[in-house]
Amino acid sequence: MAYIQFLGAAGTVTGSKHLINTSENSFGKDGLQILVDCGLFQGQKEWRERNWRDTPVPAKEIDAVILTHAHLDHCGWIPRLVKEGFRGPIYATPPTIDLCGIILPDSGHLQEEDAAYYNKTKKSKHTPALPLYTSQEALRSLQCFKPANVGETVALSSALSFRFVNAAHILGSCMAEISLTVGGQPRRLLFTGDIGRVRDDRVAPGKVVHSGPTEGETADIVVMESTYGNRLHPKEDPLPELAALITATAKRGGSVVVPAFAIERTQKFIFILKHLMESGQIPRIPVFGDSPMAIKAVEIFLKHDEEYSDDTRSMIKRYGSPIDWPGFTFASTAEESKKINAVLTPSIIISSSGMVTGGRILHHLAQRLPDPKNLVLFIGFQAPGTRGFTIKSKAPEVKIFGELVPIRAQIAALEQFSDHADPPELLQWLRTFRNRPEMTYLVHGEPDASSQLRDLMKKELGWNVDVAKYLEKVEVR
Ligand SMILES: [Zn+2]
Repeated sequence: MAYIQFLGAAGTVTGSKHLINTSENSFGKDGLQILVDCGLFQGQKEWRERNWRDTPVPAKEIDAVILTHAHLDHCGWIPRLVKEGFRGPIYATPPTIDLCGIILPDSGHLQEEDAAYYNKTKKSKHTPALPLYTSQEALRSLQCFKPANVGETVALSSALSFRFVNAAHILGSCMAEISLTVGGQPRRLLFTGDIGRVRDDRVAPGKVVHSGPTEGETADIVVMESTYGNRLHPKEDPLPELAALITATAKRGGSVVVPAFAIERTQKFIFILKHLMESGQIPRIPVFGDSPMAIKAVEIFLKHDEEYSDDTRSMIKRYGSPIDWPGFTFASTAEESKKINAVLTPSIIISSSGMVTGGRILHHLAQRLPDPKNLVLFIGFQAPGTRGFTIKSKAPEVKIFGELVPIRAQIAALEQFSDHADPPELLQWLRTFRNRPEMTYLVHGEPDASSQLRDLMKKELGWNVDVAKYLEKVEVR
């Protein structure tokens, strides 16, 4: 029986991992076993512990990975998969491969730091605490990557091929269209990965990459994300509110701390800050992009200009590379990062991780959260169970480095910067399909978000939709 099994991002937004098994009988291995995405679980402990479990089929029996994009919740388990014995190719677009080249070793480095911290403080029940994988192991896993361009058909066997199409989510992001033969019949599966905003720059401000996923798809089975299944993006321009928040904070002598994914969200945000400064809407205060990957990430963006939105293209034409902008500093080393702590005049600090689960943002928040002069500004999704979720929900305190840090700084959130389509945008895209898929499985959503989107799609489109369950197997007939 050919089947899809949901190994992650079912009932949660992290750990994306979907296994396709093309075996036509249930005995032995006569078909292909392919993983679409291989992401890390983040957030609540219940989910994170799944990072330590093996895949239901041995890693060495998995033939290939097809990777939709370079966010950790889609690619962050790859080094572990390789550590467990996987030796096949990992197909991704060239920008995704470049981005994974900095994200995965950084993730390994963070795992090593966490393990070292737990061993020092003896705060883990495991002795010694071990990293899920090391920076070296992450580097080794990069050797498995193979480029596949958007639109290029890659045959994995005589019975299965795939093609990437644009998802318009982040640089290099794609959906995977998989064509296979089951019982002599051709079948088409579409794995959306994360879906970007619709083809309209006014409702998706400041997008670095072009907006609008590829339209006119056909599929028999769709496996689709549902992160924003129960929420609408505000449609008003966020820039006046952003300018007012930054200006007020600077006036009272405070700093703005922005937790942001190091990739895409940080680049998008610095372009917006540049625009606000040049147009006189915010004061010219120092901006720090604090991430070990900061400069490399900017360089990768500048290299892959084929994906830019018109706005980004004209900004770069007008202002040049962000690396050369006066007043903008990108801290790559730990020393450069520490220097930011000594800046006590107004500044803007953008650092990762975006959901405050680790990384240098922890130091900035530990230092600046207790002071009411400062502003902590969220510009991205915060999954339940993460520190970002705790801070955003205005809890009185948050645990950082084992200490309770009082939350006295102003907390604000702007939802417009999302790189995920909301329900009206998803419907707009789904209405461009050339056929009605036999079945759609919703993944990558909190339970409420997925079930509300399921109900909406049934009502508005009349499609068969189910919410995928963790480890559930669904037959491909
Ligand atoms: Zn993503």
